[in-house]
This record gives sequence, C-alpha cells and structure tokens, in this order.
Amino acid sequence: MEQELVNLRTKAGQQLATVEDISQLEDFRIQFLGRKGQCSTIMKSLGKVPIEDKPRLGQMANSVKKEIESLYDEKRQLLLSNTASSSSQNDSIDLTLPGRKPETGKLHPVTQIMNEVCAIFESLGFSVAEGPDVEHDHYNFEALNIPAHHPARDMHDTFYVSDSILLRTHTSPMQARIMETRQPPLRVIAPGKVYRCDSDITHNPMFHQVEGFLVDRDVSFADLKGVLTVFTQKMFDKELELRFRPSFFPFTEPSAEVDIACVICEGKGCRVCKHTGWLEILGSGMIDPEVFKMVGYDPEVYSGFAFGLGIERIAMLKYGIDDIRLYYENDLRFLSQF
Ligand SMILES: [Zn+2]
Repeated sequence: MEQELVNLRTKAGQQLATVEDISQLEDFRIQFLGRKGQCSTIMKSLGKVPIEDKPRLGQMANSVKKEIESLYDEKRQLLLSNTASSSSQNDSIDLTLPGRKPETGKLHPVTQIMNEVCAIFESLGFSVAEGPDVEHDHYNFEALNIPAHHPARDMHDTFYVSDSILLRTHTSPMQARIMETRQPPLRVIAPGKVYRCDSDITHNPMFHQVEGFLVDRDVSFADLKGVLTVFTQKMFDKELELRFRPSFFPFTEPSAEVDIACVICEGKGCRVCKHTGWLEILGSGMIDPEVFKMVGYDPEVYSGFAFGLGIERIAMLKYGIDDIRLYYENDLRFLSQF
C-alpha cells in the first residue's frame, strides 16, 4: 500500500509533465482525480488494510491526493495564462492598417437620370407635375383618344385593379389631368413610374417615364423638333443628329418616333444600334385635336406637342447597359458604378 502511494505520486508527476493543453489536462484529471480515478480507487482499498495501519496510511493517502490536486491546479493556471497571452497577441490592434470606409448611400442611376431629365426641361421653362400610379381608365385611355375596344389598348399590357381602375401604363394621363384643370399656355413634364405586364431583358413590369407637353397658340412641329434637339444634346453632351420617323399614337397627330445617332458609334454602326447607326429614344407628336376637345380647349385656337421617353432606356443608352433587370437587382457592385 505504501509503495502503491509512492508510485501513484511519481506516475502523476510524470504524466502531468507531458500535458500540453487543457483537453489533455482534463484527461489527466479524470484518470487521477475523477470519481473512478486512481486516487479514489486507492482510497477505497484503505478499507482492507489492517486497523493499526489505517491512520498512518490514511494520512499518507490524503497527502498524496492533495499533492496531485495542487500539481493539477498549478498546471491549469499555467495553461490558462498561456492561452490568454497568445489570444491577446492575436487580438492586438495594428494601428498602421487603413480604416474601413463606411458605405455611403447614393442616388439610384434611374433617379439620377430622372433628375437630369427634369433639370434639362426645367431649364427650358417646363414645370414638373406628378400624378397617381393607380389611375382611372378614363385618364389612362379614354381622355387620350383610346376608347374601349380600341386596338391600341392591346399594346399596353395593362394591369387592371378593377374594370375602371388600373396601374397607369404611361405617364400620359397627366396630360389630360392637367389640361382639365388649367388653361394654356402650358409647359409641363410629368415623371413617374408606369406598369406593364411584360418582362424580359429590355422590359420590366415597372419602369419610369417622363411625359412632356407644351400647349399654346401657334405651336408647330418645328417647336417639338427644337425642344427635343436641345434635350438630346444636353442629355448626351454631344451634338447628335435626330431622325423623326412617322408613327402612330392615338393621342397625337401627326406622330413620330425619334431616333438619335448612336451614342456609341456616332452613326457608323455597332452592336448597340444593331448596325443601323440609330437608337430609338422616344415617341412624340402634335397633340390630337380630339384630346383638346375632351378637355374643352378649342383646337382652332390652341395647338401643342407631346412626347414620352423611358428613363431606363436613356440610362441604358447613356451607360451602355444591355439588361434592364440590372437596375432592380439591388446589387451594390452594379449600383456603386454610377
Ligand atoms: Zn452604334
């Protein structure tokens, strides 16, 4: 028994010397100091020693156990202080590193172009008006000379809320809304969101338009050409040639689609302009006398022009973007380039 205790003390000391981390130390604790460990085993066997040896051996067994316990505590302190100092080395602050820049918010490219378009027309004396996204069929179609069953309605891919309420398919309802309440002369642009049931790389179900119109006495097609020429020059910072192609819109007569010389190749032909040298940028025309009659203007006295352009389209042409969906994916890698 005596020899066993001496051996246990030696064995514990040797084993502890090989312990290198907290998990090995825990194994050591279980092996020597645990409930079923070697110290407990030897304590239990004290019951079998002769009664006269019991006090001496009991005392010895206790002091061996205490010794092992204090060796264990010592080692534990040492291991803990080592890990603490090594982790504090890892956490130390490198004052020479550059700071992290907080992300700053910016206007969305669509908003930037919208603001730019508005600013250009404001510089030409137009005022800005905004109207509702949820619109009456009357303003979206009827008042613009598109009665029920008119084939032009099919081209609009309309989202209907009810039979007479819809999400506006263009910003043109503002023409009727404003002319209804005000008298000429009028120079107004109406920017905003419009909705169509259509989605692919060049169409999004929601996009932005700017409607513009001017009503006064003796307004001619030359005035329309002049205003749009100034606009495209300012928008693209270039003197770009304009081309007016005859077209049809129910609320203008005559109507024209307007192309600009390709901003990328300047008319020589490239992938963006599909080698035509021209890019379609907006629709326009002289306001149809029928529209004037519906708001109570005398078409013999007043004339005017109107145009509508897509903001995303302008942004795509200006920045050379070929997929409209990029604007709405909220990917900061894309958005932060503008
Ligand atoms: Zn081109």
